[in-house]
Amino acid sequence: MSNSSQDFPITIFPWQYGSWQQLWESKQKHKLAHALLLVGMDGLGKSQFAYELAAALLCREPSGWGVRCGKCHGCCMMTAKSHPDFMVVEPAETGKKISVDQVRDVIKNVNETTLKGGFRVIIISPATSMNVNAANALLKTLEEPAPNTLLMLVSNAGLRLPATIISRCQQVAFSKPHHADAIAWLQKKISDEKVNPQLLLKLADGAPLKALALLESDVISLRQGLYQDIYSLSQGQADPLQLAAKWQDGDPINIVDLLLSWLTDILRFKVTQDPVDLLNLDYKTEITRTGINLLPNNLFVYIDYLQQARSDLMRAINLNKQLLLETLFIRWTDYVSG
Ligand SMILES: [Zn+2]
Repeated sequence: MSNSSQDFPITIFPWQYGSWQQLWESKQKHKLAHALLLVGMDGLGKSQFAYELAAALLCREPSGWGVRCGKCHGCCMMTAKSHPDFMVVEPAETGKKISVDQVRDVIKNVNETTLKGGFRVIIISPATSMNVNAANALLKTLEEPAPNTLLMLVSNAGLRLPATIISRCQQVAFSKPHHADAIAWLQKKISDEKVNPQLLLKLADGAPLKALALLESDVISLRQGLYQDIYSLSQGQADPLQLAAKWQDGDPINIVDLLLSWLTDILRFKVTQDPVDLLNLDYKTEITRTGINLLPNNLFVYIDYLQQARSDLMRAINLNKQLLLETLFIRWTDYVSG
């Protein structure tokens, strides 16, 4: 079979063709593993890949490299989100754990018969959200796999899973596409000529889907305004409380991430003394200038504080947003301003 992109499902990203082909080949030879661990950084499309593989396995008449027909009973039930042999297990709320009861539902499902002897596919994502009891419960199912059942564990921090789980899964590692390929792909997706794909990709650490997400979430314009303000703050030309009021409608996680990105760049510059490695290359003058008088100890204390704030935000702990932003900017004045 030839390997042009038309042979792959259109929803599979070009940088995933290798993994897709390998898995589909195993499936054709009836050698597909019973558990896959899909690992790699955010923004590479692991979850979409898992869903597409599930849909291809549940299609009765796939063609090429797993291109589903879209018409059969299996395809229709997938589209209607009602396939009885497909299950996605995820935390009930962002930041929460996957409970042992959720995994017990999986085990129950695995022990039921499938529709006309077809495949059964279960996706657990993010796999690191399983609490210890949930992971232990899953382990039994991994040790005694049911026929025609595929479990897919999706994780951007694969090594944080228990070794007993990792060792029972076939790992499918997702890596960033080559820079030129990623830029070519991004360019096709961006219609706004003012957007610089190089900068976007750099801010997304090379992950194309993360770059698109940044664009869609308007982080780029948030970044521009915020960076101007924190530079003014560093120069003693802005008031922390006024800035806190100004930014209180912004997503605090994005704000914390942008501040972390700026400070990490200062750290980078202090180590290498070379602005070429900066992530925020378009702000190199401001960043190197802010870094000159900054004491390394203050820098570390502030980065720690931001990381703590980020982890509180991720765990959705009830935070007073206004107070958080006020503290962020006051501390910026204390630590970062010369
Ligand atoms: Zn089909």
